[in-house]
Amino acid sequence: MPSIARAAVEEIVRRIVTERFAAVPAAPTLVVDASARHMHVSREHLDQLFGPGYELTVHRPLYQPGHFAARETVTLIGPRSRLISNLRILGPIRSRSQVELAFTDAISLGLENVPIRLSGDLDGTPGAFLMGPRGIVELKEGVIRAAIHAHMNPAEAAYYGVQHGDEMKLRVAGLAPVTFERVRVRVDKTTLLNVHMDTDEANACGLHLAKEIELVK
Ligand SMILES: [Zn+2]
Repeated sequence: MPSIARAAVEEIVRRIVTERFAAVPAAPTLVVDASARHMHVSREHLDQLFGPGYELTVHRPLYQPGHFAARETVTLIGPRSRLISNLRILGPIRSRSQVELAFTDAISLGLENVPIRLSGDLDGTPGAFLMGPRGIVELKEGVIRAAIHAHMNPAEAAYYGVQHGDEMKLRVAGLAPVTFERVRVRVDKTTLLNVHMDTDEANACGLHLAKEIELVK
């Protein structure tokens, strides 16, 4: 075999190997979190609950950059005066207040018809009263059970071959294996791959014990 041909072959092989590596990026790290009941608060409601101009303080940073569990909590009051105390506020503040409960929480509060919604989709949802150290707010609507969802950035979405608004499946292996269907894909430049489920879902699949978790199209 003439040496020029060998060099050409080697060049082709090198190019194919390089392209293969480039075409198969490493799997992104999948973090699955159980979100305990919590609320997001608007500027207006934070003023009413904690006093004008009050700013949230950080209790614990969350996995998503810039998001945090605040030190501040409120008391949530249901339709028959049942209470959930120490409902934690998650920061930063949002344009609209929203309370996220697991079904177990909602039923204990006396709210039997809390709909499953994506964050921010609040029209027609039930309300509740919120009590803070400086005042009470009547939340006319905004109580939801958050739909299980997967945050990801555009590169991670490309890895899975999905787009914003698509649905995926989350398979949790182990002694209580569960496959969650309809895991809504939320694509945002600023987020890291992160599935959010509530505490009912986490307890159903034994999330705290789970070693094998897979997100699939
Ligand atoms: Zn989320």
